[in-house]
Amino acid sequence: MTSFRAPRGTFDLLPPRSEHILAVREGLAAPARRAGYRYVETPALEDTALFVRGVGDSTDVVTKEMYTFTTRGGDSLSLRPEGTAPVVRAALEHALDKGALPAKLWYAGSFYRYERPQAGRYRHFSQVGAEALGTEDPAVDAELVILAADAYAGVGLRGVRLLLNSLGDQRCRPAYRSALQEFLRGLRLDADTRARVERNPLRVLDDKRSEVQEQLHDAPLPGDWLCAECTAHHETVRELLGDAGIAFTDAPSLVRGLDYYTRTTFEFVHDGLGAQSAVGGGGRYDGLSESIGGPSLPGVGWALGVERTLLTLEAEGVELALPRPVDVFAVPVGEKAARVLFGLVTALRRAGVAADIAYGGRGLKGAMKAADRSGAAYAVVVGDRDLADGVAQLKELSTGQQRSVPLADVVDTLREALR
Ligand code: AMP
Repeated sequence: MTSFRAPRGTFDLLPPRSEHILAVREGLAAPARRAGYRYVETPALEDTALFVRGVGDSTDVVTKEMYTFTTRGGDSLSLRPEGTAPVVRAALEHALDKGALPAKLWYAGSFYRYERPQAGRYRHFSQVGAEALGTEDPAVDAELVILAADAYAGVGLRGVRLLLNSLGDQRCRPAYRSALQEFLRGLRLDADTRARVERNPLRVLDDKRSEVQEQLHDAPLPGDWLCAECTAHHETVRELLGDAGIAFTDAPSLVRGLDYYTRTTFEFVHDGLGAQSAVGGGGRYDGLSESIGGPSLPGVGWALGVERTLLTLEAEGVELALPRPVDVFAVPVGEKAARVLFGLVTALRRAGVAADIAYGGRGLKGAMKAADRSGAAYAVVVGDRDLADGVAQLKELSTGQQRSVPLADVVDTLREALR
């Protein structure tokens, strides 16, 4: 024991739950990988200004939740609170925008937000994300939504609902924004919210407090102000989703927390999560590149919360199909047998069989217990008598059946048996 603890809002992942997280992460990424998205990794740290300009200086994520510090060299860096601005930054830095478009990228990693910790809300959490850069084609919006829906289905999640909206673009959004501001200025709101009306009025639609929500019934909605191009874009996305058999709910007041979204926005929600119902979300961000000083580079993407997906799977009682940690567990009785089995375990591993061995000169009983605990399908037991006969005892742990196999044949026999 030590008095040190993982910092508040963070957690350690230990087996077997760590393996569930790994399986969820791999499962969520699988559909995007099958669709030609390539892996990208960016640093956990970025210039603070990237997020201030890219995510928006009036968002909670940037104003209240970033871990920001000054380096010894005097630079202001922040732990990344999200992945899209970093990916767009990296794409521009490495001129992916000059290459084959769309650039389709996926990532998985840790993100950091100084939020009030509660179930499903942490200060350090992990996301799988996918981004398609360099096209306005609504088919790519639909592709990404389908991939996210398939990702949840692929890990076995059933009760996830898709909310869909369009926020308009730089042509129609300004008029909508003004109309919304005019409406909001007429409401009874506290000083903070009134300030938000001036800086980021769309976010007020997202205010969870009932005293705010009950005044918003007649608020103008983005959908009523879409220009012809945005309407056509949105219609195509809706049709393609329908054709793919993806169920969705139109959510006219869905705005989401980050400033950079244009046109398509969506969120995946699950009712088994309590207050933190969002398991993932995303949308189109055609203005993001320019807001961080880049050229015009339209993009669309999503980020799916790994821990929240696992929590919802647990809430639904879904058992993840996990590979056995090891297939074979070696039980040596005596020092000579330990030598021989050590070599055999290495040979098994090199032959592609997951294998482990009892260490520390444990007796037969303790070592057999370790074999059972390991989850292996077979134990290989060797003692002095076996060595003299040149054999090993293969024990099938589920049935207790045991047979004697020449030592030289153990690798091939096990490889066959485990096929
Ligand atoms: P966002 O970038 O806020 O849209 O987040 C995308 C997804 O990441 C959410 O739907 C959540 O599943 C997950 N997420 C965001 N913030 C947290 C957090 N503080 N703790 C755990 N998961 C989070």
